[in-house]
Amino acid sequence: MKCCIVTLGCQMNQSDSERIRSVIEGMGYVLTAVEEEADLIGVVACSVRQKAIDKVYSKIRKWNRWKNDRPLVTFVSGCILPADEEKFLKLFDLVFRMNELPELPTALQQCGVATEFSTRHLLDELEREDERTDFWQVEPTYGSDFEAFVPIQNGCDKFCSYCAVPYTRGREVSRASADILAEVEKLVGNGVKSITLLGQNVNSYGLDKKGEELSFAGLLNQVGELGNKSGKDFWVYFTSPHPRDMTRDVIETIAQYGCLAKQIHLPVQSGDEEMLRHMNRNHGIDAYKKIIADIRELLPTATLFTDIIVGFSGETDEQLENSARLMEEVGFNMAYIAKYSPRPGARSAEWPDDITPQQKSERLAKLSAILKRTSRAHNERMVGKTYRVLVERADKRMEGALVSRTEGRLLVRILQASEGLIGTFQDVRITSAAELSLTGELAGA
Ligand code: SAM
Ligand code: SF4
Repeated sequence: MKCCIVTLGCQMNQSDSERIRSVIEGMGYVLTAVEEEADLIGVVACSVRQKAIDKVYSKIRKWNRWKNDRPLVTFVSGCILPADEEKFLKLFDLVFRMNELPELPTALQQCGVATEFSTRHLLDELEREDERTDFWQVEPTYGSDFEAFVPIQNGCDKFCSYCAVPYTRGREVSRASADILAEVEKLVGNGVKSITLLGQNVNSYGLDKKGEELSFAGLLNQVGELGNKSGKDFWVYFTSPHPRDMTRDVIETIAQYGCLAKQIHLPVQSGDEEMLRHMNRNHGIDAYKKIIADIRELLPTATLFTDIIVGFSGETDEQLENSARLMEEVGFNMAYIAKYSPRPGARSAEWPDDITPQQKSERLAKLSAILKRTSRAHNERMVGKTYRVLVERADKRMEGALVSRTEGRLLVRILQASEGLIGTFQDVRITSAAELSLTGELAGA
């Protein structure tokens, strides 16, 4: 019996898939990447943008056509809006939320799926008191030997006016710090080199359990101590934080420990004060710039990434100019620039989507050009210097080359290097810089 899991969306969806995989493999399935050979096929969906949801519809239409020729069971999970859930129930054999993951084997059996798995096996092992986050206790089957995602927080209480997350993942719940630290310790012990702490609003960690649980800075501090004690080399990242909760003590803690990577992904969404209010971001431009100043002061080598939305309801040319100005001023190394798409249920879905697709494309191109310029200027300053990188994979585009990343998550193509280096740290001398990547050679080569 073979199962194919198609993951759409962000690292949180990938992390969801790693846990779904454990349950499915526990049922006796063998995982396949080939949809055509699967008996059980599922999609871990993302509702943040309409594009990802359109993909789910096109997949399930295709899979349902296959059912005319062979037995096939389909499921969908991940981040699903109530409006899509109703439609999915008519299209998929099974729709489940991540907090229902422990019940997946039973639910599949009810869909007529024969399994070699004892359903009780998994359920007995789980503590049942917190129904909403049971899935954290399912041990993930990590997709890599050297990189891992560790969820620390689920859901969001911020309710930005454009965003689907509070409706797909629910309210904020922090995972027990003891469980997080145990998972990190185990990964480090197994030689994992890159660990990303995940949450929809990762730095609001602990706010739902004030007084009982560590703060986000407290958690980072414990991870840093664990790193010092382990004597091992690894980098710890976190994503995505919200500027509102990005306190100075978080930045101070990152400065204090070698294993806490000097890379900050801090979504700003817009460079315009009024737009930020319209988006219900609950922070202003000055507050954002103050955090950037703190980062520059305390983490001088840190790279800066952000998320920006263009074409939000009512965005004027002048407001877009303010986003452009902020991008010039900060000089981000990376920006994930998204064209706004209304999400049913989010507050802005009731507002006019009045920026035309062409205007959105033009605005995205404008910001993208700024990003490429600032990123290239930074990269050019790296030429001739040596940086530590983690080698990720062979380069599909260039024979004999490897793809690696610096601590700041900048992509470095290493020419003429052996695939045996994948998963290891290497020192690389940068030989040339491009807009969003660098090229280098092994130091000492
Ligand atoms: N929690 C993070 C924050 O506060 O910025 C972001 C998490 S959100 C799941 C990931 C990104 O998707 C956002 O930063 C935003 O840029 C983008 N996004 C969310 N809703 C969107 C929408 N309706 N249209 C376009 N992009 C959207
Ligand atoms: Fe969405 Fe805002 Fe929550 Fe980020 S903080 S997940 S953008 S509602």
